[in-house]
Amino acid sequence: MLKYLDPDDLPVGWKDLCVSLDSDIQQLVDDGIVKNFHVEQLKEKFGTLRLYFSADSGYSETERLIDDYTHVSAWTCAKCGAFPADKETAGWIYPLCCRCAPENAKDLPPFEPQRQVEIWLPDGSTRVETYDTSSVVARIAQRKT
Ligand SMILES: [Zn+2]
Repeated sequence: MLKYLDPDDLPVGWKDLCVSLDSDIQQLVDDGIVKNFHVEQLKEKFGTLRLYFSADSGYSETERLIDDYTHVSAWTCAKCGAFPADKETAGWIYPLCCRCAPENAKDLPPFEPQRQVEIWLPDGSTRVETYDTSSVVARIAQRKT
């Protein structure tokens, strides 16, 4: 039983992702960064984990954490949890490993730990920031059930 997230809302292969994200959110709460965290919705969308939430503080820290998990989920086999998955189903998009993928699955591009985010600045211009998700990948592996 997790504190915030229900793994049943996600593909079965993402259970370890869900357990690890739940622990990371708990850590932000324990550290006093996030107050009054509430899950609005947890689901799979376009083959990635999506978590919508509300909080009285620590919104940007939590959002960045969740976005790291969203990035990693795109390469986590939705059936067995193998990482990095190297296939994706055609049509209804899901990442799958080569053992779980059907014959007609397409190749996924190789996993890149870096994800890039476009930040809007007050003057209307944008700047691209790069976040490294390697530590998230490591924590998920460490906490595997
Ligand atoms: Zn698999």
